[in-house]
Amino acid sequence: MQLYNTASHRKETFTPQNVNQVTMYCCGPTVYNFAHIGNLRTYIFEDLLARTIRLQYPLKHVMNVTDVGHLVSDADDGEDKMELGAAREGKTAWEIAKFYETKFWQDYDALHCTRPTVISRATAHIPEMIALVKTLEEKGYTYRTSDGIYYDTSKFPRYDALVGHAHISGLQGGARVEMSDEKRNPTDFALWKFSPKDKKRQMEWDSPWGVGFPGWHIECSAMAMKYLGHTLDIHCGGIDHVTIHHTNEIAQSEAATGQKYVNYWVHGEFLILRSGKMSKSGGTFGTVDVLKEKGYEPLAYRYLCLGAHYRTQLEFSYESMDSAAKSLKNLRTLACGYLKEAADKGTQTENSRAWKDKFTAAMQDDLNAPKALAVTWEAVRSGDLSAAEKVDFLRFADTILALDVFKAPAPEKVEIPAEVAALLEQRKAARAAKDWAKSDELRAAIAAAGYTVKDTPQGQTVEKHA
Ligand code: AMP
Ligand code: ZN
Repeated sequence: MQLYNTASHRKETFTPQNVNQVTMYCCGPTVYNFAHIGNLRTYIFEDLLARTIRLQYPLKHVMNVTDVGHLVSDADDGEDKMELGAAREGKTAWEIAKFYETKFWQDYDALHCTRPTVISRATAHIPEMIALVKTLEEKGYTYRTSDGIYYDTSKFPRYDALVGHAHISGLQGGARVEMSDEKRNPTDFALWKFSPKDKKRQMEWDSPWGVGFPGWHIECSAMAMKYLGHTLDIHCGGIDHVTIHHTNEIAQSEAATGQKYVNYWVHGEFLILRSGKMSKSGGTFGTVDVLKEKGYEPLAYRYLCLGAHYRTQLEFSYESMDSAAKSLKNLRTLACGYLKEAADKGTQTENSRAWKDKFTAAMQDDLNAPKALAVTWEAVRSGDLSAAEKVDFLRFADTILALDVFKAPAPEKVEIPAEVAALLEQRKAARAAKDWAKSDELRAAIAAAGYTVKDTPQGQTVEKHA
């Protein structure tokens, strides 16, 4: 498999440290609000990676849940997002975390993302984080300010490894970040923050340095290394994490262990809106629930994401959602047709195997899902494959695509004009009043408007006349 490594800026052949267990860590959600469909694009890309790796190797996939310590600004300023969520909703920070985490997994499952092997909550790993900060302190990488224990990035010469020297020296010039008086370097970051003196925090713990809470970056280093060892094969996340979060994870982990932290850094590009950046903190944003309310099934969104390579930005629009939903429906119609024709049997032949190999080659070429999708369409339309061979191919392809291709497509959504909807309401009332004559009269009026009404145990349904 070829994978683009952010650290080397090129595609590399993926070689795991141990072929019996590939190790992968993915930065998980900060559970102070709903995940938006941009966040979920990242999890879909990580799922594609997990599924593709599993074609070759067993995989240990760890994902954290950030339920404390992620501040409003990645530069360690502002309030904790969890405590902010609690104030917004009049709940405790713990309730907020529980609620949004539950919701996150519902969305994650609905998009057919495979659950990680280990799910690690930050609040359940405070001792590991404290231990890591202690190691860094013993090795001379930390200093104390009035608000916490900080990492001194000037002590770690490879600090620019992931983002490049120009970027870091830009920061060090002070051009991009405001620096508190007590920070020694603009790139220094908090490992442990003290609870404010004037305000009681809901989430806080005792530590050798005083009561407080962990920095966001130390959470990931501590949990990743606890479950996966000092050197991970793969670490993933959204592209926004390269410059601060992952750069800081490397600095902490490598300073503590003296070993390379990650062999392959893999980052997914953003989902964007025509109006700009999609943001969780910025009020309204698209969620899986919003898509469902608009009549889309979550897997139509997965289809949309599969159509764009993970390293390119994807601009979201409802036109592209419509077209993804339509393509998914067409694919299912064909797949179900072949399944029926083949009497539910898939037959592996040289021919179907060759198509599967083509599909796998696309996925193993730095997760080229758009190409794999194109191969899928070529295969289902190909005159060279029998129905049973197509079923065999599709069963395999769907272990990666995870689009439920053999699900019978839902019937067309009927757009009912307002006047017909009003007639239906009147008919419902007439039937409730057992006024059958009126009900028949209204049926005729609905028919005259071009719709056939049927009475089912669930109530009235309508179909547009052909
Ligand atoms: P968060 O819950 O904010 O910590 O983010 C969860 C994941 O979503 C991280 O890997 C982010 O990098 C990623 N992410 C945030 N915004 C977007 C976006 N608009 N498109 C794709 N991924 C995103
Ligand atoms: Zn992380």
